Amino acid sequence: MKKIGIIGSTGSIGTQTVEVIQELNGAEPGSFCVTALACGNGVEKMAEQARALGVRLLCTGTKEGAGKVRSMLSDMKPEVLWGKEGLKELAASGMDTLVTAIVGMAGIEPTLEAIKNGTDIALANKETLVAAGEIVMREAGKRGVSILPVDSEHSAVFQCLRGIRREELDKIVLTCSGGPFRTYPAEKLDSVTPEMALGHPTWNMGGKITVDSATLMNKGLEVIEAARLYSLSIDDIEVTVHPQSIVHSMIKTRDGAVIAQLGYPSMKLPIQYALTYPERKKCGVPVLDFTKGMTLTFEEPDREKFPCLGLAEAAGREGGTMPACMNAANEKAVSLFLQGKVKFTDIALIVEKAMASHRVIKDPSAEDILGVSDETYRNAALQLLQRKTRR
Ligand code: MN
Repeated sequence: MKKIGIIGSTGSIGTQTVEVIQELNGAEPGSFCVTALACGNGVEKMAEQARALGVRLLCTGTKEGAGKVRSMLSDMKPEVLWGKEGLKELAASGMDTLVTAIVGMAGIEPTLEAIKNGTDIALANKETLVAAGEIVMREAGKRGVSILPVDSEHSAVFQCLRGIRREELDKIVLTCSGGPFRTYPAEKLDSVTPEMALGHPTWNMGGKITVDSATLMNKGLEVIEAARLYSLSIDDIEVTVHPQSIVHSMIKTRDGAVIAQLGYPSMKLPIQYALTYPERKKCGVPVLDFTKGMTLTFEEPDREKFPCLGLAEAAGREGGTMPACMNAANEKAVSLFLQGKVKFTDIALIVEKAMASHRVIKDPSAEDILGVSDETYRNAALQLLQRKTRR
């Protein structure tokens, strides 16, 4: 029986992880046991999950939330932790695999705690590798812990890499849907509203990641993740726009072969693969049907129209604390955009300003990285731009 913890259990990935585990247990009863769940605000939903799965260790974002969960589950008498410290304690509780489906920088510390305890990571939190990739991969290497990617692109690369030796790998090609504004006129982008950005074509995701997909920052973050995960340089990661989202990503080997992983867009297979690896189990997702015919297209991403992609690549090349700065500025900018306080096109401007005024710390500690996130939030350039663009 594999013991699983899920942090961010009520979000899109967390909910689907619970479904995948229930389906796997349906096919082979008792193969997975969820021992810990954590959420931010979705306390009711998490309490339901805890009841359905019989989970005894829980964590919520706030003390009030923890009280609510305790009273909802009074008959089960679970241990309910709360806040940042609670989340770290939960992460260190010794499961086989921790699914990090939490959004934002808050994912870094619990991930490091779990790694220290020899727990494998099914990684769905981007910030962990973007901001703290060097530290996380080093710690994981030291403890012999596996980092199993849940993101569809990195899972595709992970699947393509099976049986390929490191020295045989030449490049990684990440596919990108292009977002909802791929064919939208560049000069109209500054009038894009949060509502327009939230209507993503193929994948159903949370608000932050949906906006990141629209600015192509999401792909920029994924380029950094891929470089860290597979010890490649940023320039070894290519990006191709593939609006059908059928090819989930590819690798190029040194003899010039290109290997791809394909499927209908669904997060279930990548989630399941991270949980069952190195085995493959039956999965409920429909399989591609080539008898019906299909057209797959690929094009170069427009880095002028979507500057966030190039900014992320530059931050990844610079390394040190720069990716953390870039990421923190983007988090802030996206939240301001979602609140209607800045324009869609201001997101890239805010990120650019924050990066330009950041003094990079090379070989940073986890504290340095988390400090950068705070510093960037208070960044003078950011405040200035905020005032200027506030409606
Ligand atoms: Mn992705």
